[in-house]
Amino acid sequence: MTTTAPTPFPLSADEEAVLESVRGLAAGFATTAAERDARAELGRAELEALHAAGADAAVLPERLGGGGIRYQAFGEIVRTIAQADPSIATVWLMHVGAGVGLAQLTAESLGSYYADAYLRGDRFANALSEPTSGNTFLQPQQPAVRAEGGYVLDGAKRFVSGSEIAEHLLVNALVDGAPAFFGVEPDETVSVIPIWDTLGLRATRSQLLSFSNTLLRDDRRARNPQPGDVNAVGVGLPFLSLGVADAALAALSEHAKGRVILGKPLSHQQWVQFEVATLHSELEAVRAYLRYTTWLADEGSPEVIGAISRAKLLANRIAVDVAQLGVRVGGASGFLTSSPIQRHLRDAQAGQLMAYSTEVLSGLIGAEVLGVA
Ligand SMILES: Cc1cc2nc3c(=O)[nH]c(=O)nc-3n(C[C@H](O)[C@H](O)[C@H](O)COP(=O)(O)OP(=O)(O)OC[C@H]3O[C@@H](n4cnc5c(N)ncnc54)[C@H](O)[C@@H]3O)c2cc1C
Repeated sequence: MTTTAPTPFPLSADEEAVLESVRGLAAGFATTAAERDARAELGRAELEALHAAGADAAVLPERLGGGGIRYQAFGEIVRTIAQADPSIATVWLMHVGAGVGLAQLTAESLGSYYADAYLRGDRFANALSEPTSGNTFLQPQQPAVRAEGGYVLDGAKRFVSGSEIAEHLLVNALVDGAPAFFGVEPDETVSVIPIWDTLGLRATRSQLLSFSNTLLRDDRRARNPQPGDVNAVGVGLPFLSLGVADAALAALSEHAKGRVILGKPLSHQQWVQFEVATLHSELEAVRAYLRYTTWLADEGSPEVIGAISRAKLLANRIAVDVAQLGVRVGGASGFLTSSPIQRHLRDAQAGQLMAYSTEVLSGLIGAEVLGVA
């Protein structure tokens, strides 16, 4: 039912090859996603398989020793993994975002230190969100104070996807009143507070991290992000929700074809057809907009910033809309934990919470359209 071509722009042979490997792996991930969700278990072996297939290296820019795939291919990789298991896609996206981020933000100061670690398979996580800063993860509120060899952070970061297996954290803090970024290799001063028992994206294990006088080392300091840097998380998050929407529509469709009521499959009922027609058309429009966003990103257009906000808002919402229709079509059968329908609804809701949330995005876009400063 979904459009087969990943992008209207031709992918290179290398991009196609990575995507094909990911498709093969994702088919396996889909068969075990429900078990990982039930146990809230990280898909470590699956993440390692993605690394072995070259997916991690493919995202690293060529100038840093990677494959340098374009956003068009990257978006489709994220969508493909998310359709199979959005928790794996989330952890992978955060790993790629932090790993590629640290590699590019320290290239001038540290050379290939982080690129080498990323390419050899070390695991990375983004420890940016704070208990008191809400959605504004790039504007930390917690100060780090000057100490020998760096700055000391005493505080917490929360909802750090994949933090329990991370060898490197991308951490930000206020240094001399301004946001500053550091790579941190967790030691005994960093502890996991196991709060993650959630409704959705359960297998991301996005835990609370406590930093108890942790040294943010001068020699692990990164420069601040700037326009033109690879923005894997920003571009990838909409594709995460698009994958959930595709999975929800597939589950809905399968149920509607298989459930027979008064002698006819549910798919023959006109209300189901009408609702599916509306949502499928909207989903395809969102997909087209997301592809346009990746094209803007690949072109290096400044318009990509606004497009990313709209792409996330649209994708978060269509995922919830499709998943909610799934629950109606599924009836009580879809409410059973044995049905994928209820899992897709839970995962779709989680997409809206990740920064920037749909409320924050709506505020930004609405203010811009209405000219509110
Ligand atoms: C599955 C998942 C994975 C995550 N992974 C990571 C990760 O790997 N690394 C990381 O650093 N963070 C991660 N996060 C954190 C996430 O990006 C947000 O920063 C965090 O969820 C915000 O806190 P909160 O959900 O408690 O919402 P709050 O910020 O407390 O928001 C509560 C409500 O207020 C609204 N709101 C908040 N701020 C504003 C505002 N400025 N304007 C208008 N409305 C506002 C929100 O939309 C929401 O409706 C993850 C979150 C989730 C759900």
